[in-house]
Amino acid sequence: MMTAHGKIRTDGILAKPRLDGEDLVQLLAVKEDKEKHRIYRKAYEVKRQNAGNVVYLRGLIEMSNICRKDCYYCGIRKSNEVVSRYTLSQEEIVEKALWAWRRNFGSIVIQSGERTDKQFIETLTEAIKEIRRQTDNSLGITLSCGEQDIDVYRQWGEAGAHRYLLRIESSSEELFRRIHPENEFHRFEDRLKALYNLKKAGFQTGTGVMIGLPGQTLENLADDLLFMRNFDVDMIGMGPYIPHQDTPMGKLTGLIPSPAGRFELSLRMIALARILMKDINIAASTAMQVLDPDGRIKAILAGANVFMPNMTPKAFADNYNLYDGKPVVQDDPMVVVKDLETKLKAVGEIVGYGKRGDSKHYFKRYEKR
Ligand code: SAM
Repeated sequence: MMTAHGKIRTDGILAKPRLDGEDLVQLLAVKEDKEKHRIYRKAYEVKRQNAGNVVYLRGLIEMSNICRKDCYYCGIRKSNEVVSRYTLSQEEIVEKALWAWRRNFGSIVIQSGERTDKQFIETLTEAIKEIRRQTDNSLGITLSCGEQDIDVYRQWGEAGAHRYLLRIESSSEELFRRIHPENEFHRFEDRLKALYNLKKAGFQTGTGVMIGLPGQTLENLADDLLFMRNFDVDMIGMGPYIPHQDTPMGKLTGLIPSPAGRFELSLRMIALARILMKDINIAASTAMQVLDPDGRIKAILAGANVFMPNMTPKAFADNYNLYDGKPVVQDDPMVVVKDLETKLKAVGEIVGYGKRGDSKHYFKRYEKR
């Protein structure tokens, strides 16, 4: 819906009961501040109505930066020899999880480079069991540890993890192929299958994409949103692509939108995801904050409802550098949470202390089965 001056009017599009690909492209293309803010206001209203005025915490533990993959964009890719590799011990993971539990974080996320070795799988299994035992099964556990066999997903699920985030990175197979090496470790169909297996294994399943990749079009991004809706996701974790100097893609900075452009596009994606998928969980990703000091608060005001303070021990966190400019880890993540709490209070939002903050959508999906 365009005016005579070629400007896009968002009110008519936003009033539609079901948005299609063309609508989404138009909403992503909006340039006028007034129209952009209409989209953000609508998304925030949908969040308040369907996910409440609460932001849930997930203390982030980056378990290992060892990775068997060689994604062209990622700072911890296998071929990056500048990185010193680490793996947290079971005790270190459990200690951090208990730290979060005692401070009422409600949930943790354990993330890692992609590893399928037995030692990694078993260490994580035992850590999950121990966390569940020592927190009376009360601490929510999300995993983000890449593609695994369904038996491994089941093993981690039986141990007590219940949410899993696996980004599809791009739902366009063509773009996916351009940002990954062509070999058996980086197959689009395997990533898709892993997502289906996560659902089969009973996880609250999340996915997401990078926004502002070289060669990515607004049509690609609209398709990403439709992919997530059609896949019936429970959660989304997505954010801007940020170059890393020691990666092959890190040198292609001339082919991507400006930092401000990537931030704005990411905000729009979050807002449109909320409008399309009203009752899911959406993360305000760390990468948002790299491009804008208030990026995560802006993401919440555009519909996000999950915040992930980093709890990786400082000595290791510096080596989990996915992209340039990743914020340094504070000695006390509680400082970050208190700052969030103050900022949220000013806009009528509260921190969901002590709450697991599961995806409402998951339970509705489960009841329908
Ligand atoms: N290996 C697991 C996986 O792929 O599911 C989890 C760890 S991986 C490092 C986590 C996410 O970081 C990826 O899904 C990717 O989207 C994101 N990432 C990696 N490099 C990035 C970059 N340069 N800019 C923005 N996000 C990036």
